Parts: sequence; structure tokens; C-alpha cells
Amino acid sequence: MQILHPFAGSVQQYTEQLADPNRHRPSHCPQCRANHPLTAHGFYTRTLSDVAFDGIIRVRRYLCQACQRTVSLLPEFALPYLRSSIVVIALFLLTRLLPAQTLAAAPPAMPYQRGQFWMRRFRAQAEALCAALAALTKPRPAPDFVHRALIMLESTGWIAAHRFLFAGLRHHLLGWPRGLAPDGRRAAFSSADAPA
Ligand SMILES: [Zn+2]
Repeated sequence: MQILHPFAGSVQQYTEQLADPNRHRPSHCPQCRANHPLTAHGFYTRTLSDVAFDGIIRVRRYLCQACQRTVSLLPEFALPYLRSSIVVIALFLLTRLLPAQTLAAAPPAMPYQRGQFWMRRFRAQAEALCAALAALTKPRPAPDFVHRALIMLESTGWIAAHRFLFAGLRHHLLGWPRGLAPDGRRAAFSSADAPA
């Protein structure tokens, strides 16, 4: 399963401190609750497209000796199964769905299909996001759930909201792909965590 890396910072800072397996080694297994530190178990690689980075990052994996399942520590700027970083997705959605928003950064150039895919998934998630984020921030008046969800994400901070949704509720910011259980786990174990 994927859990969030405790680290917070830039892509570059993340890659620099990844060498030390002890630094953020989980002290117990989140899957079988075995109460002993997990064993370092290499990395998997995935693509990441961020504002100032486009390439391959490593994601550290640990193995639970009790249940023989792996746990990977996903950095907070990346979403499972999506190549683009949260910041890039957020900029795009704000520009397209909340045009009155004044943005400091220029909207990212995005292949048409990919942008449509994000907007479709975000629209499908909006009502559930509003309900979940009400625990973090007060709902604001807005014409519809899409606007309200965007305003709530802006006031919470997208990465802070993602941390809360993913770590606390196992919600994916844009919804889990079809074929995964509601909490994002496959019914049968698979180590293929590469993003689409
Ligand atoms: Zn375990």
C-alpha cells in the first residue's frame, strides 16, 4: 500500500534526503499492525511533472516481515496514478474552473485530453470533497460544488488538504481510478504503483 512520506518540501529536497532508509522508516506496519520497524525494500520509480521538474523520482519502499507486504512512502506533492504534481493540477483546475481567481503563476500548458480528464474527475469528486474538507475549513457560499470545493482547497492549501484526505480518509484528491477499492487498494496485492 502507499502511505504518505512524512517529509514536506520541494522535489529536490525530497530526492536529496531519500538515501537514508532510517530517516523516515515506519515504526509499525500500517497493514497488519505488527508493532516492529519495517525493513527497507528498495525503491520504485515513477514519473513526476512539476512546475520546475519533469522526470523520474524514486519512491522508497519498506517490507513488513510479519505479513510480507510492502509499504511505499509517497511524497506529498505527488498523487497516486497521476504523473502531474498536485501544484500543476491545482493551477490548471483553478484557471479553468475558477476563472475569476487571480493567479500569481501562469497556467500550465497541458495536453487537451489530460486537462479534460482532470476536470471530469474533479467534477465527479467535488461534492465529496466539500463534505470531507468541512472538517478543515468553513464552507463558503458558492454557486455549485465545483466552485465551493476549489475555494475550500485554496483556503486549506492543496497539499494540506491532500494529506488530510489521503492519510486520514484514504481519499484521492481526484478520485481513485476505476478498478480500485474505495480506499485505493487493489483487491489482490500488486506492486505496480506506477502512475498513468
Ligand atoms: Zn504487516
